[in-house]
Amino acid sequence: MKLRQYDVVVVGGGIHGAGVAQAAAAQGHTVLVLEQTSLAAGTSSRSSKLIHGGLRYLESAQFNLVRECLHERALLLKNAPDLVELKPFYIPIYSETSRPAWQIRAGLSLYSTLGGLSGDTRFKIVSKRDWNQLDGLDHQDLKKVFRYYDAQTDDKLLTEAVMRSAQSLGAELEMPAQLVEAERDNHSYIVRYQKNGEQIEFRAGLLINAAGPWVNDVLNKVTHKVSRLAVDLIQGTHIILEGSVNQGIYYTEAPEDKRAVFVMPWKGKIMVGTTESFYHGNPAKVHPLTKEKNYLLQTLGYYFPKYRHHSLQDIVDSFAGLRVLPRIEGSAFSRPRDTIFHTDRADDPRLVTIYGGKLTAYRATAEKLMNEFRHVLPDRQAVADTKNLALTLQ
Ligand SMILES: Cc1cc2nc3c(=O)[nH]c(=O)nc-3n(C[C@H](O)[C@H](O)[C@H](O)COP(=O)(O)OP(=O)(O)OC[C@H]3O[C@@H](n4cnc5c(N)ncnc54)[C@H](O)[C@@H]3O)c2cc1C
Repeated sequence: MKLRQYDVVVVGGGIHGAGVAQAAAAQGHTVLVLEQTSLAAGTSSRSSKLIHGGLRYLESAQFNLVRECLHERALLLKNAPDLVELKPFYIPIYSETSRPAWQIRAGLSLYSTLGGLSGDTRFKIVSKRDWNQLDGLDHQDLKKVFRYYDAQTDDKLLTEAVMRSAQSLGAELEMPAQLVEAERDNHSYIVRYQKNGEQIEFRAGLLINAAGPWVNDVLNKVTHKVSRLAVDLIQGTHIILEGSVNQGIYYTEAPEDKRAVFVMPWKGKIMVGTTESFYHGNPAKVHPLTKEKNYLLQTLGYYFPKYRHHSLQDIVDSFAGLRVLPRIEGSAFSRPRDTIFHTDRADDPRLVTIYGGKLTAYRATAEKLMNEFRHVLPDRQAVADTKNLALTLQ
């Protein structure tokens, strides 16, 4: 029996799966996305929801990543104005802050340069007489406050919007539909998935594994032996409390270990995150730990005295997501955040696994992936350029 064939089949309906579907459909390819639960059910609804260059990646000299993310931020502000909003970010510098003011100033100057010195990359020192407007930020030992700009989104809505854009270009979505087996057959894969208790089979010219923290589980479903990267899953938790920060987003460092923690406005409340702890186990079962919640509460109260007496009972919601970081020496926090494409065979790649990545860079990642691997697919007439596709709420 002749199987139905798609040029590209994507496993995973997170931001990367949606992004690759959009990029492939824009290049004129036939595309099918399989998502086992719902769109953005995994990490893509549990991020810090920032569309940013990643100021702190400058410290580990990841300049290309920062430049790319700032470029993508500019594109998203243009193409998705209802979903991505530029926000002031405040960095308070106290006597005991680990990075001195000159270092922050140098970092922000470089950030601005990498962002093409556009108006959106400007920064300034907030005058002392305006400190009272900073949402109750503690003034004791406060030396300086820097203000710069980055953007905030709703990660789940963004993922849904990218998938809608892909579908408007002809991509198909099967959901809930779980990949159960993939078998290489010459220059394609025979893919089997389960939907409503039924097994469905078809052929994929290129199979993209965009399963986030499940990537290596998906590789376990490939019938022949394929190589994989050893990864660590790093859990990051956010908490949400009643209250408000009206001026923007505060970029603080946790008193306990000096890690970056953001205090953000979120749907009329305050969101604080994130943490980092190793996670072992089923990605579907990840959940916030009490010690993570206490760590975030402590950080919030440290900078905003009115929250000092808040306790676990004051947390109205919390969620945890998982970063996928290839296993190399060094602390999880300083590891490179570049996205890795890992293939089944160098000479004729038909299975590409996406390791890592950032919400912000999803479009650039998807474009790179399609440009790198489209040579194995039939020639098609491009129908759109993702750089110019509007992303809308409905
Ligand atoms: C705590 C935290 C904060 C972050 N903050 C930011 C931020 O502020 N800004 C930023 O740019 N990036 C941020 N990131 C990174 C960003 O969120 C991730 O890179 C991105 O969401 C990963 O998306 P994904 O599509 O690869 O994975 P996921 O969103 O996890 O999607 C994978 C999907 O695959 C599906 N799936 C798995 N197995 C199967 C199967 N067998 N069959 C069918 N479907 C399957 C899952 O259900 C899931 O929906 C953050 C990450 C974390 C963990």
